Formats: sequence, C-alpha cells, structure tokens
Amino acid sequence: MNFLQDVLHLFFPKICITCDIKLLQPEKIICTLCRHDLPIICYTNYENNKITKAFYGRIPIEKATSFLFYRKEGKTKKLIHALKYKGNQEVGNFIGDWFGGILKDSSEFKDIDCIIPVPLHPKKQRKRGYNQLTTFGLRLSEHLTKPYLEDVLIRTSASKTQTFKQRFERFSNNSTKFSVPDPSIIKNKHILLVDDVITTGATLESCCKELLNSESIKISIVTMAYTE
Ligand SMILES: [Zn+2]
Repeated sequence: MNFLQDVLHLFFPKICITCDIKLLQPEKIICTLCRHDLPIICYTNYENNKITKAFYGRIPIEKATSFLFYRKEGKTKKLIHALKYKGNQEVGNFIGDWFGGILKDSSEFKDIDCIIPVPLHPKKQRKRGYNQLTTFGLRLSEHLTKPYLEDVLIRTSASKTQTFKQRFERFSNNSTKFSVPDPSIIKNKHILLVDDVITTGATLESCCKELLNSESIKISIVTMAYTE
C-alpha cells in the first residue's frame, strides 16, 4: 500500500456494498462480515441439482450451478444491483474470482471448450456502457483457462411487427430473439453459458435453443445467482 493510496483511503473511504460501513483498506467490495454472511450455494453435484432440474423437459443441458442464492432484499441482490445499475464492474471480478477458483478446483467443467455470455440487447448495452457479465466471464475464463467469446451469440433487434407481436407473447417466453451468426465456430463444442441471475430460466432457455441449432454441441450453465 503506497502513501497516495493511504491518503485516498483516508479522505475517500470505500463503503461496503451490502451494509454501507466503511471498508478497511485490504477489503474489497464488501466487508469481511458480509463476505462470511453471503448465501453461497454449496452444490457438489452439478449434473443433478435444483438448477439442472429447473431445465428438465425444456432443454437438454449437461451441468448447471450458481454461486449465490438471490433473495428479496438480500446481500446478493445488492451486489447484482451494484453491478448492473451502478456501474460497479468490480463486483463481476469479485464473484468471478471466488467462483472461478471453486469451479477450477472441482474439475467439473474441465471439458468445456468456451465460455459464452447471455448477450444484452445492443441498445441496452449502449445505454449501460457494458455487459454486466464481461468481468465475471473474463475471470472465469482465466481460472478455467478457456476462451471467453462475446460475439458468438447475439441478441437481435425486434422489428416493429415483432414488437407488436411480442405484446401478445409476453408471457409465452418467446419474446426475446437470439441468433448465432456463425454456427461453425461452436460446432462439436461444449459451451459454458453464463448469466447473472436465474429466475424462471426463460432467457437461458431461449439462448440454448438457438445454440442447439449448431451441430452436435453440448451446453452447461453457470450463473452468479439463483432465485429459488
Ligand atoms: Zn458489510
């Protein structure tokens, strides 16, 4: 820790995202107490758990797991909110490093070929300035030593007629359009699809359906959080 950092810390102390107390100098993002209090999901079985079961009968996936339980007014919600709406991309690094280390040690995903994020709609990404999955995905990529590919799966703009149609399809999970411009890139590959929070799983389901149009691919899913 150098002098400048000491002075900066003195006058502009960082605040814990989840409980608002001043962070001590070595603490990052959240304080030690909150860190120990995070609702970490401890699945050791990645092929048969609540998350994989949520996709039964919908799409064929190999394995799935998440890092944190997402609850109303909980710490996870505050972390994800800071990442998505307050520009705090450090949250993605924090979760990606911690979870990436766990996934690496488990060796469960050692046979994946690449990591692909759920894409944001281009308009939304321009407004936000970033995809909230990028820092998380890049840290996973480092730990699992597999490439992070952001342009394989894209979200397409809805035309006016589609938008009109979507008003009637809002509840049928078919309103989001994804596409894979060059399916040959993922042919015969095992993809690790990543997202922030699984709630109904509808978005991931749409992504998987599009990816599965490519020849003989396998898909596994990893997310930062999961709503029970
Ligand atoms: Zn705290």
